[in-house]
Amino acid sequence: MLSCFGVGKGSCLNNTDFSELPRFVRYAQKVFHLNLLAGSFTDSRLRPEIPGRAVALSLLFGEVAQIPSLHQLQSETKLPQWQHWVGYSHRISDDTLEYVSERMDPEKLRRGAIWINRKLKRGKAFEQSKVNGLLALSLDANEQFCSDHRCCQDCLTREITTKDDTGQPVKHLQYYHKQVYAQLSGPRLSVILDVEPMRQGEEECMTALRLLDRMREKYGPRFFDLVVVDAWYTNGPFLKAEVEMGWPVIAVLKQARYDIYQETLALTKGKPPTETVKRDDRKVEIWDLPQMTLTNTYTEPVRVVRARETYIQRQRIGGRWITEEKEQNWIWVVAGDLAGYVGSIIRDWCHLRWKIENNAFNELTQAWHLTHCAHHHPVALQVLLWIKIMAFTLFHAFAILHGKLLRLGKVTLMELRNSLYRSLLCGDVVPFSSG
Ligand SMILES: [Zn+2]
Repeated sequence: MLSCFGVGKGSCLNNTDFSELPRFVRYAQKVFHLNLLAGSFTDSRLRPEIPGRAVALSLLFGEVAQIPSLHQLQSETKLPQWQHWVGYSHRISDDTLEYVSERMDPEKLRRGAIWINRKLKRGKAFEQSKVNGLLALSLDANEQFCSDHRCCQDCLTREITTKDDTGQPVKHLQYYHKQVYAQLSGPRLSVILDVEPMRQGEEECMTALRLLDRMREKYGPRFFDLVVVDAWYTNGPFLKAEVEMGWPVIAVLKQARYDIYQETLALTKGKPPTETVKRDDRKVEIWDLPQMTLTNTYTEPVRVVRARETYIQRQRIGGRWITEEKEQNWIWVVAGDLAGYVGSIIRDWCHLRWKIENNAFNELTQAWHLTHCAHHHPVALQVLLWIKIMAFTLFHAFAILHGKLLRLGKVTLMELRNSLYRSLLCGDVVPFSSG
């Protein structure tokens, strides 16, 4: 049953705690017609006793309210306000939640997520996510969880070496699930647009290209303007395929083995920067080299941007404040047409790539139980991940676009989320209209 982090009914002392989850429910209903949307995530049961919409909404609200397991979610579905929100006046068992999640269609959930993102774009929610007028998409892979036992037919495998009781190395198979994510990364609101599971024997770039290909079809070529990727994707075949899809791409260049890397260091050594700018507390020097050659698998010329960023770091060590000058160096390859944008703008787009690390993977892992597998089944895994992503997007839209307290700096995202959870105990009953 509800543990509420030790916060009982008498502890809900302010209006924020009382009303956040009902406010979220009203917002999601009013702006995204969530009850209708959830009704479209029908499952393959022929004569369902419990409506699929009630199950889908319970799973979604469970994510928003930080319910870590289907077993605990079963307890929350006894609450009268919960039953009003999901439009079903009985408890939903964890067996039912598992059974239905195996029978929902991940493609329908993907369509639902695309619909939410399109609605956000039409409502101008991404205007402040633009940098220099363009929207950047970050691509990266994330391992969801691993296990020493195969649990489903879609588990990926790899051989790892551990030590036995006598300290001798032993090889054995490990099973895991990993996906490539596409995030629209912005200074204000960042959202996950799509996600693609990696298949056995597949390399990350191949998964990413399958993902981009589908996004071009589902979102259209103009939903975002350019793609930023880490050094893993810096190879001729990936950049070529990506540019042919119609998006310029900026990739981190770390591979010292590439001639272009050594050439960049040689061409910029001792030379004055092309541009010097300030970014927050950093001095950023930029060297911009057009018409460089990447490899023989990418025959078009590429542009290379090198940045040296210096800043002062002050930290307390052994009771004393120590001030140190720090330096970071970056080299990026730009493929496709971004000729009208100076090197410092290229640098700003590239740093948006950290958003997928911080605002997606870290936050999903630390606050959204991403690595906890609620039900290990090949279909349920995808279904539950999509519901998590949708809940993640709706919560961020609610907090960033709609929430006054966050905008005014009075609460953090985490505090707001905790108050959503606490309001489960203290919240008022808000009927969830069927319209
Ligand atoms: Zn598996």
